[in-house]
Amino acid sequence: MTDLLRVAIIGSGPSGFYAAAQLLAADDPAFAVDVFDRLPTPFGLVRAGVAPDHPKIKSVTRAFDKTAQHERFRFFGHVDFGTDVTREELLERYHAVVYAVGTSTDRRLGVPGEDLRGSHPATEFVAWYNGHPDHSGLEVDLQAQRAVVVGAGNVAIDVARMLALAPEELALTDTADHAIEVLNRSGLKEITILARRGPLQAAFTNPELLELGELQRADVEIVGAELDPLSQAALADADKTRTRNVEILQEYAAREPAGKPMTVRLRFLVSPVELLGDERGHVRAIKVERNEIVAREDGSLAAKGTGEFEEIPCELVFRSIGYTGEPLGDVPFDERRGLIRNTDGRVIGDDGEHCTGEYVTGWIKRGPSGVIGTNKKDSQDTVTRILEDARAGRLNAPAAQDVVELLAAKAEHHIPWEGWLAIDEAETSAGAPQGRPRVKLTEWEALRRAATGARTSS
Ligand code: NAP
Repeated sequence: MTDLLRVAIIGSGPSGFYAAAQLLAADDPAFAVDVFDRLPTPFGLVRAGVAPDHPKIKSVTRAFDKTAQHERFRFFGHVDFGTDVTREELLERYHAVVYAVGTSTDRRLGVPGEDLRGSHPATEFVAWYNGHPDHSGLEVDLQAQRAVVVGAGNVAIDVARMLALAPEELALTDTADHAIEVLNRSGLKEITILARRGPLQAAFTNPELLELGELQRADVEIVGAELDPLSQAALADADKTRTRNVEILQEYAAREPAGKPMTVRLRFLVSPVELLGDERGHVRAIKVERNEIVAREDGSLAAKGTGEFEEIPCELVFRSIGYTGEPLGDVPFDERRGLIRNTDGRVIGDDGEHCTGEYVTGWIKRGPSGVIGTNKKDSQDTVTRILEDARAGRLNAPAAQDVVELLAAKAEHHIPWEGWLAIDEAETSAGAPQGRPRVKLTEWEALRRAATGARTSS
């Protein structure tokens, strides 16, 4: 192992695993890869973000499992970067450190009332129904009748669809049991998705938009499917996805409701300006301004308020206007973009120079965009930079040898890949009798116990 270059990857989501696979595939030079994760479980948003009723998307983990079998791969779960191991400690032990931590928090609307009770960031709601152990205690009051989801992206669609799934649809998924219990007792009748621009500008992808029209217990309704003149003119040059979105939305708009117990409504050209509360400090309505589409100087089409306001009564609000990154200890951070400061994957310090041996990949490198597969190319680009720097002798020159001693001293609780396999076995064998892919362990203690092979009762 002496000639191998050692790389630490922080984060075991898709971008981390793609980078690991690509590094392990290199032979000149060859690498040994250690992947660290704060959670006892790997796979990042594949486990904690992808909607539970999309099992096919999750099957990407089979490729990651294969990577984990590589003799030069190690996994150290339940290791918190910044606490259990520091940036300096890793740079003392690795030729390169790759940050692949994703963008873990929500973008804020920045309007009054945003934090009233009943108003949730989509990031938390998604983490809750997916059994993320930091969010298992979230209280979502689904006795409400009307929910509003702000934002016109795929996460907004995921949230709306999860709220609308029938118990028999949910029953076959790996949705966290605590969420299934609450969702099955839901009294929701209306779910309204608010888009600040028009149908042509919506960020949905076609399969996700089509699913909204196929819900067993909800009709889909569109308010504002017709295009404004500027969008109509732009339609001819629009890409396939956006053109098809417009067609799908117009087809939905022409549908007669089938009388299903719920309605999922998409409303275009409105921006939230305030969340209004009742005397208990709970959301009672969302105040919106109607927008029109205007052309910016660069030709892009933007929303502009018309000065006309309206209140939409609702008891629940999910804010789904995109994710943003959080600073990772003292790793250089671009506050404005919410990303680790980098040029093409090389981390850039305050002096404008590459921080030797430090790299970044995935959403925390480029921002929260694209699908899982987008990270494959992104990680390949970063790994290409690492290879270039390795061949030019520009990697970090670590003094200390292996990380194992450090972990034994500072993070004895760390969980190896075999620990994850024990969690996996506990979850999948609990799911099998119910015809579900798994029953997720959603509490830290239960995960720890399962990882160490103890019987769990959670
Ligand atoms: P997104 O695709 O970036 O969509 C964010 C939406 O929020 C946009 O419609 C945006 O409108 C709107 N928005 C931003 N700021 C706003 C504001 N202040 N007021 C009102 N609306 C505002 O983000 P996302 O839905 O979080 O998804 C993140 C990424 O994950 C995307 O690439 C998505 O495709 C992907 N994803 C994929 C799947 C899947 O493949 N099934 C599922 C989930 C997520 P403007 O366009 O006007 O800015």
